[in-house]
Amino acid sequence: MKAIIIGSGLGGLLSAAKLSKAGYEVEIFERLPIIGGRFTNIPYQGFQLSTGALHMIPHGPAGPLSQLLREVGANVEIIRKKPVSVIRVPRTRKDTDYKFGYKDILFEDFKAPFSLINRLKLIYYVISTRKNPPTGQSFEDWCRKHIPQDWTYRISDSFFGWALSLKGADVPVEEAFAIIENLYHFGGPGVPMGGCKGVTDALVDIITSNGGTIYTSSEVTGLKLDNDKVTAVIVDGKEHTADLVISDIGHPATANLIGTETNVSGMDEYVHKSKDLKPSAGIKICLSSDKPLIGHGGVLLTPYAKRVNGINEVTNVDPSLAPAGKHLTMAHQCVQWKDLDNLDREIELGLEDLSDIFSGKEYEVLLIQSYSNDWPVNRSPSGADLKNKTPMSNLYVVGDGAKGKGGIEVEGIALGVKNCMHNIIA
Ligand code: FAD
Repeated sequence: MKAIIIGSGLGGLLSAAKLSKAGYEVEIFERLPIIGGRFTNIPYQGFQLSTGALHMIPHGPAGPLSQLLREVGANVEIIRKKPVSVIRVPRTRKDTDYKFGYKDILFEDFKAPFSLINRLKLIYYVISTRKNPPTGQSFEDWCRKHIPQDWTYRISDSFFGWALSLKGADVPVEEAFAIIENLYHFGGPGVPMGGCKGVTDALVDIITSNGGTIYTSSEVTGLKLDNDKVTAVIVDGKEHTADLVISDIGHPATANLIGTETNVSGMDEYVHKSKDLKPSAGIKICLSSDKPLIGHGGVLLTPYAKRVNGINEVTNVDPSLAPAGKHLTMAHQCVQWKDLDNLDREIELGLEDLSDIFSGKEYEVLLIQSYSNDWPVNRSPSGADLKNKTPMSNLYVVGDGAKGKGGIEVEGIALGVKNCMHNIIA
C-alpha cells in the first residue's frame, strides 16, 4: 500500500512515521526547500530561532506527543524542569501593571489572588464540573457567570493566549475544561533538546530508515479523483499514484485541492465548514541577553502585560539553542482577529511590555515574527477543529487544523494523528 503525505509539518511527519512503521510505502511532498513546517529551527547569528513554535512541548515528556514519538521509535529527549510555569503579578494588589515592581508566583498558586469566596467557589466547581462539564458558551462567559473577578479574565487570557493564541472569550468552554483536565493529567511543558528541529529531525530519521522518501520544493497542486477516491497527487504536472493520501495543509487548502468538480456527497458542507475556520494569529519576539532574563526553563505567564501573554527562556534547559554565554528568550502574544490589520501597533505594544517586564535588564531584540492566514499559530482555533475525515474516502487531514480534543498545540496534533491512524491502521 502506498501513502502520500502532503506537507512535512509535524502532523505530516508523525503520520508518515506511523504509516512507514506499519509497512506502508510512504512519500512526502513538501512545497518548501526545508522540512518541518512551523516546527523547525532557523539558525540566526548562532541562535536557533524557529519557523513557528517556541521550542516547547505543552505536556513535556508525559504528554501525547511524547508518547507518540516513543511509539514510532523517535529518539527525542524532552526535559521538564521545575518550575514549569510561573505567573508574574504586580507587587501590590492595587497595581495593574509591572511598572512599580512585581513578584512571581508558582502556577500551582494561581488561586491565591482570588477573593476568599471565589477560592471556595473554585473548589466547588473543580469537583462539580467533572460530573457535569459546562457546554455551549465561551470560557470567558462561563467565568463571568461563575467566578467574576478581574484576576479570572487576566489569568485565563494569559494562559490561553500563551497556549492557544486565543482569548478566553474565543475558547469554547468544553475545550477549555478538556485542556485543564489534560494539564492535570499530563503535567506542564518541557523543552525538546535541539529545539523543534530535535523533534522533526528524529521523525525524518525514522521515516527514511523505514524506507520513506521526502521530496522538498515539491508543491502538490492538484489531486486526481475517481468517484470518492483520490488516485494520485499532482506535483510539477506529474501524477504520483497513491492508495491513501494524508494532508497536513489544513482543511481549507485540502478542500481547494479537491476542487469543485466532484459531486461526491458531503462536499458542499465540507467546503462550507472549512471556509468558516479562522486561524489563530500571534506575534513572537525573540530576545538575546548575556544574563538570564527569566532564569528558569518553564513559562513565565504575564497576565498584567498589555499584549504579551507569556515568555520562555529555553537556554536554561538547552544552552545549545544560543551561542556560548548567551540566552534565547521568546515572548508570545495572541493577536485578535480584529487587530490583524494593525500588526505594527500590536508589535509596538508587545515591545513596550517587554521593556516593563525586563525593566533594568539588558537585552537585544533578535527577530520579530507575526503569524496569521496561511502561516498561523493554529490553522483551526482550538475547539473548532474539524476531524480528520474528508468527503473523499482515502483522504485524511492531520496537523493543527485537525487537533484532538483538549490537545494544546502539538499535543493536539499528536492526538489528531492518533485518531486518524485509528481509522487507517487496524
Ligand atoms: P505545518 O507546520 O504548517 O506544516 C504544513 C507543511 O505543508 C508546511 O511545511 C507547508 O510548507 C507544506 N505545504 C503547504 N501546502 C503544500 C502543498 N500544496 N504541497 C506540499 N506542501 C505543502 N506548538 C507547540 O506545541 N509549542 C509551542 O511552543 C508552540 N509555539 C508556537 C508559537 C508560534 C508563534 C506559532 C506560529 C506556533 C506555535 N506552536 C507551538 C504551534 C505549532 O508550531 C504548530 O501547531 C505546528 O508546527 C503545525 O504543524 P502542522 O503539521 O499542522 O503544519
